[in-house]
Amino acid sequence: MVPSIRDDAAAAPSASSLPEPAVSPSTRAVLERIAGFAVRLLDAPVGIVALRDGTRAFAGDGDAWRARLDAPVADTLCHLAMRSGRPLAIDDARTDALVAEHPLLWMGETAYLGVPVRGPQGDVAGCLSCVHDRPHAWTEAQVETLVHLAGFASAALAAGAGERARESARGRGRRVSARMLEKAVETMQLGVTITDVAGRIIYTNAAEARMHGYGMDELPGMHARVFAPAEHARPIGADAMAGVTSWSRETTNVRKDGSVFPVVLRSDVVTDRRGRTVGIVTCCEDVSQRRQLERQLLRSAFYDPLTGLPNRVLLTHRLERAVEAARRGGASFAVLAVGMDAFKRVCDSLGPQAGDELVAAAAARVQTVVRADAMLARLGADELAVLLDDADGVVEATRLAERVQEAVAAPFEVGGVEVFSAASVGIAHSSTRYAHAEEAVRDAVIAMYRSRDAGKGQYEVFDHAMHAQALARLRMETDLRRAVERGELRVHYQPIVMLQTGRIAGFEALVRWMHPELGLVLPDDFIPLAEETGLIVPIGLWVLREACLQLTRLQTGVCRDQDVTVAVNLSVKQVAQPDLVERVAEVLAETGIDPRRLKLEITESVIMHDPEAITGMLHRLKALGIQLHIDDFGTGYSSLHYLHRLPLDALKIDRSFLSEHAGGPNLQLVRAIVAMAHALDVVVVTEGVESAELLEEMRTLRCEYAQGFFFSRPLDEHDIERLCVRNPVW
Ligand code: C2E
Ligand code: MG
Ligand code: MG
Repeated sequence: MVPSIRDDAAAAPSASSLPEPAVSPSTRAVLERIAGFAVRLLDAPVGIVALRDGTRAFAGDGDAWRARLDAPVADTLCHLAMRSGRPLAIDDARTDALVAEHPLLWMGETAYLGVPVRGPQGDVAGCLSCVHDRPHAWTEAQVETLVHLAGFASAALAAGAGERARESARGRGRRVSARMLEKAVETMQLGVTITDVAGRIIYTNAAEARMHGYGMDELPGMHARVFAPAEHARPIGADAMAGVTSWSRETTNVRKDGSVFPVVLRSDVVTDRRGRTVGIVTCCEDVSQRRQLERQLLRSAFYDPLTGLPNRVLLTHRLERAVEAARRGGASFAVLAVGMDAFKRVCDSLGPQAGDELVAAAAARVQTVVRADAMLARLGADELAVLLDDADGVVEATRLAERVQEAVAAPFEVGGVEVFSAASVGIAHSSTRYAHAEEAVRDAVIAMYRSRDAGKGQYEVFDHAMHAQALARLRMETDLRRAVERGELRVHYQPIVMLQTGRIAGFEALVRWMHPELGLVLPDDFIPLAEETGLIVPIGLWVLREACLQLTRLQTGVCRDQDVTVAVNLSVKQVAQPDLVERVAEVLAETGIDPRRLKLEITESVIMHDPEAITGMLHRLKALGIQLHIDDFGTGYSSLHYLHRLPLDALKIDRSFLSEHAGGPNLQLVRAIVAMAHALDVVVVTEGVESAELLEEMRTLRCEYAQGFFFSRPLDEHDIERLCVRNPVW
């Protein structure tokens, strides 16, 4: 087995904070040769000597490892080898627990072998390492070779180092008495132990005894190895000590009761005037609290508290490596964005806490179907992401998407209620040639939304057309905001004909957008966007006011002698506004129209979404004296049970029932709907009458009103007035 820092961190002298070596050009050239030997002898693509002072000497394919070469040595895996003072061998960083614990030190190398390089004082001055971009099982022989080469590098540093200036402060000022020093050691918070050459304890201060759970008198005479856990309690070999005057290490110590705790130790060899070793002074700092704080910080910076999964920051960090590797022609990768379709519904109906419960439960299920070496992360609200390194083509990613969807298919128990939620999945693959991690995440999320739009429980693979559409949508959104301010919206009016008389009985107000570049945009192309962005609320109110004003103009002008009405569509978002009734009342008061002449059209799906909540609101609207129509009837899931409890005046049968496209008009169904409507005592308006035949059919079926291109398309305010002047009869 290859030795690594996990074996025994305390066995050898290790990294300290002694002065950094300064390196001359000739020493650097020697270090480069050593890196070259490492490349050749270990058959690795690149070998690097990195010193604390920023010196880099490398050989091999340096360009591909630019990020690694530029990073401070303390920000790379070298730090771990240097901190322990021992070789560090990682065969596959993607699955390595130590790397997972220190995600920021990982620069994307797959296999890593590093050996500390010592400076002239015996302290760790840097690291000699070899890296691979594929998994690699380092052999004992390779580790040994690198250890030897690191020895050469240390020798080169020692040879190159100039004479260091002697400490000049010595003897300056007044001398401190031995008693003063003793007092300082006794009272300090740092533990201090003095041992003889054989390791027997001669002295400990109060802090040291307290830290390890001993009384002050117990320790003298014992061997210092009582502080070390059994597996570390081997004596340091004479060879390892040769020429060493001080060393530091991070390790674990053991208390009298057997419990262990992390410490930082610094030992200094004490010599007599003739240079003979007489003892060792070791200072011991208990770093439990510091470690715990570090762990907490690490967790809060990189992990999501709800699911315990890596967060977006950590995902991006890892993805950045995958992007870089793919760019160099290495392994391909895929990112899956997973969204829980029911999240919003659950939050709206059961509260945000229930939404959290759903996400946590879904994350746990998804984790069970994700490969161990793939990273599952939480991007935000209900969005999870999976990074698949080494995803061979898109197929593997689509298979995972299917597994994820299966995993969430069973119901969840959320807020004490059983909830079903499909998952929408979007996939971005490295074949799209990403330059940055964020782009891949963005595309996966775009594809995920695309799949959600396509229907529940789908997955979509991102392509460029999707990106273009997403951009176009974003532009449209900005444009729509401006459209409201710049007055680019218009209201057109389509006549509604009373079938008994064949004359115009009223109009439906239909909004249009005169886009400065695109020209006329129809509502189906921007109402959904307006609803999503909430812009529909001001837009809808504006249409209502316009329509009421137009009605006043008609009633006082060309339609003076007719009773005409105006119908205005209400969006689901408007219906959800608590002040809708007040707003409508305001418009009625402002424009002074007779409330009976106003009809509000609400689509069937809005009513059936939450009939209980909406019933009250409809009654309040009705109390204003206006009429209520149910729009697009037949497209939702109407429940007769609710319909008869609603204060409705009319049903508008959706035009799809009269459409020639879907196998011709479905007159049977229209007949059934008319019968039902009449039984509920509401009148029927049919939409989409495009021919004289259909008009006759509707008359035969005893529909009261009809609307459609056969009579007229929606017209602007001037054309509708002209039509009224003609006062046609059909
Ligand atoms: P809707 O309320 O069902 O309006 C009827 C739609 O059917 C209109 O489409 C109208 O032009 C179209 N139509 C009428 N007769 C015929 C026909 O004989 N054949 C065919 N093929 N179509 C016919 P438009 O104007 O494109 O509006 C589409 C939808 O947009 C409306 O459906 C309504 O749901 C929504 N909408 C329009 N204006 C507004 C508005 O101001 N606010 C809200 N919330 N929604 C609006
Ligand atoms: Mg309508
Ligand atoms: Mg309709």
